[in-house]
Amino acid sequence: MKFATKVIHAGIDPDPSTGAIMTPIFQTSTYVQAAPGDHKGFEYARTQNPTRSALEKNLAALENGVDAICFGSGLAAQDAVIKLLKSGDEVLACNDLYGGSYRQMVQVFGPWGLKSRYIDMSDASTVEAAIGPDTKVLWIESPTNPMLNIIDLEAIAAIARKRGILTVVDNTFATPYLQNPLDLGADIVLHSATKYLGGHSDAIHGCLIVKDAGLAQRLHYIQNASGAVPGPQDCFLILRGIKTLHLRMQRACENAEVVARYLAEHPAVSRVFWPGFEDHPGHAIAKRQMRMFGGIVSFDLKNNTEAAARTVLSSTHLFSLAESLGGVESLIDHPATMTHGSIPREERLKVGLTDTLMRLSVGIEDVEDLVEDLRQALAA
Ligand SMILES: *Cc1c(COP(=O)(O)O)cnc(C)c1O
Repeated sequence: MKFATKVIHAGIDPDPSTGAIMTPIFQTSTYVQAAPGDHKGFEYARTQNPTRSALEKNLAALENGVDAICFGSGLAAQDAVIKLLKSGDEVLACNDLYGGSYRQMVQVFGPWGLKSRYIDMSDASTVEAAIGPDTKVLWIESPTNPMLNIIDLEAIAAIARKRGILTVVDNTFATPYLQNPLDLGADIVLHSATKYLGGHSDAIHGCLIVKDAGLAQRLHYIQNASGAVPGPQDCFLILRGIKTLHLRMQRACENAEVVARYLAEHPAVSRVFWPGFEDHPGHAIAKRQMRMFGGIVSFDLKNNTEAAARTVLSSTHLFSLAESLGGVESLIDHPATMTHGSIPREERLKVGLTDTLMRLSVGIEDVEDLVEDLRQALAA
């Protein structure tokens, strides 16, 4: 099945009792048994829910995995991955990642004995040299957030596999429409489905997709034992959002290209970060491992005072000032004080995340209106 067919059909069957074409929202906590242990495969809704199961099958198909495991948020999905480890184990992560991912590893799991280190992974040989005796997981985002660096997933997964280390790829920014990490050798794909998969800024949700049945079983076990499961209504919303993922991503990527090229020519803008630029250091790898270059564009101003950034941030009308990304509507974000506020300033500055950097999640509106909105905001 091709991608555009999978988003609509994979894992989805008409409801056997009514023929309803849409997967019902099974808003139930438990299931009646005919006799003890004599049930229809459903016992208690933390463990199994048919709406969630349909979504899990659909997600597994989109990422070319064997199974998916859904959670109440992207960070709950990360939490389950960390629980594969034990005290003293180390996660080696890229140094430009979602602030909440960093915060969970350092502030929540640090006191439990998890070690974590954050390095520049744009050169695969650096990663090989940095692996230590306790490294059990490589944690990768590509494109990275918010600097949009590109990491060679295939090269790094090969290094990890040789040493029996798990490769986890947070594929939230690229989505399976642009990039399939499992095909490149990764073991676990993570999504904050809150973003592009749901796509309409109306639900918080996370998932993991794996290609090894044993690993899937272990993660389902943790999902049930720890309990951070999503409700059926949210699973329904993510399923519905996914049906248009290919159309939304296509348009978001096309719009982002126009916006990135417009900003690159703008006299008030010092730098634009977007992996589609031919001179972006990761461009060749991005071309190889992604189908398009994504809908996120970050940029910095020549006038690098916080006041100048604040003026732009409060002058856009179509780009709403908000955390999150990946919805149909365009958003503008100030990572230093918003999404990445939990990362210490010195750490941020090391990767180029300045106090004036702004991140755009380019939506699927008419791109002429989006460019006009940025033009008037930058003039302000
Ligand atoms: C938002 C986000 C997360 C966290 O997901 P939640 O659904 O908000 O818990 C993780 N990784 C990336 C790249 C994100 O953008």
